[in-house]
Amino acid sequence: MRTQVGIVGGGPSGLLLAHLLHLQGIDSVVLESRSEEYVIDRVRAGVLEQGMVDLMTAIGVGDRMRREGLVHHGINISFAGALHRINMYELTGGRAITVYGQNEVQKDLNHARRTTGRPMFHEVENLTLHDFDSGSPRIRYRHQGGEQELQCDFIAGCDGFHGVSRPSIPEAAVTAFDRVYPFAWLGILAEAAPASEELVYTWTERGFALFSMRSPTVTRLYLQCAPDEDIALWSDDRIWSELNARLTTRDGWKPNVGPILQKGVTGMRSFVVEPMRYGRLFLAGDAAHIVPPTGAKGLNLAAADVFVLSQALAEFYRSGKCALIDAYSDTCLRRVWRAQRFSWWMTSMLHLSGDENAFDRRRQLAELDYLTSSRAAMTSLAENYVGFPII
Ligand SMILES: Cc1cc2nc3c(=O)[nH]c(=O)nc-3n(C[C@H](O)[C@H](O)[C@H](O)COP(=O)(O)OP(=O)(O)OC[C@H]3O[C@@H](n4cnc5c(N)ncnc54)[C@H](O)[C@@H]3O)c2cc1C
Repeated sequence: MRTQVGIVGGGPSGLLLAHLLHLQGIDSVVLESRSEEYVIDRVRAGVLEQGMVDLMTAIGVGDRMRREGLVHHGINISFAGALHRINMYELTGGRAITVYGQNEVQKDLNHARRTTGRPMFHEVENLTLHDFDSGSPRIRYRHQGGEQELQCDFIAGCDGFHGVSRPSIPEAAVTAFDRVYPFAWLGILAEAAPASEELVYTWTERGFALFSMRSPTVTRLYLQCAPDEDIALWSDDRIWSELNARLTTRDGWKPNVGPILQKGVTGMRSFVVEPMRYGRLFLAGDAAHIVPPTGAKGLNLAAADVFVLSQALAEFYRSGKCALIDAYSDTCLRRVWRAQRFSWWMTSMLHLSGDENAFDRRRQLAELDYLTSSRAAMTSLAENYVGFPII
């Protein structure tokens, strides 16, 4: 089989890239190791930056998002028992975030791919990358019992942090930057109407908590926990009691309680590999970088990467020029490092690392006080949180 761009991974970055390329008349084949249902059902991100919303709208995959997504003009920061609202819409000249689950984004992208009629294969096995330092890369894999080979002009490694694309690059050709945090998030999805219309990021002496939502009937909540936390030790009662202890404010605001639909522990890590390209292999999304989820940047960075890549490949196929291809890694890394800085800052301001002393806690509280009372500080948070334009 032959195509122009072989896309490894059918998550958000792979399928968004596939659609962006399709709109430029560029052919691709998407190869995904999991089943379609598995990829859709994974509970992950849910906050879309203004730029991602604008991108999905511009390329015709945003209809359901605009109907069902929850547009938020502000977020709340809570500490010392009180909520402080930051009006992002006003501070950024009319930009906002949209709460729309990654599952829903994935469904819309899968649907878009199907309507193009271009190939997308699920449950591929033993995928390996070959000759991507030459002009004719190849991808070998097993599908439905048969060995396959895909010849392509370029390979897009959109296969997430644990995929095969990044490790296929010779180790000496890349540099990895890594920080692992001494805490994780215990996240739940609960069938309960959100008690606040907007997200609440909470600092407490018991550790961080985040109140969030996925729809008018489903609440998403997180608790800071140990990286090796055993979820089996957390009964539903224990989770609700800890959430209430951290989130309840002095004036009595607290989340609504309901049946827990899903729970899990997510590790916290900052990671970047440079450069994001080797020969004709391009890394995009979580394959190249991951951020702690505090800044809600992972999915949005993936969208920004593949937009840059689609523009670069479109220029190449239109004119034969390689300028945008050659700039791909640097263009993406500038945004990636800004998002890394912001995600690290939000994470360090709001979590207890376990080795801080009384001075460090007072300093965190002073920073939160400054953040919620200075227009300059609120503007800085707001413009980073709603994100910088993608298109
Ligand atoms: C557990 C978890 C929870 C998260 N929670 C949040 C959150 O609360 N908020 C937030 O903002 N972000 C969150 N994120 C980050 C966000 O979900 C990611 O940034 C986003 O999914 C990146 O998209 P991607 O397509 O680059 O990678 P992925 O979504 O990881 O997609 C990669 C795809 O490649 C496939 N694949 C892997 N290996 C192969 C192979 N060898 N061959 C073929 N296919 C392969 C995978 O099955 C997967 O479908 C979370 C991530 C994880 C892992």
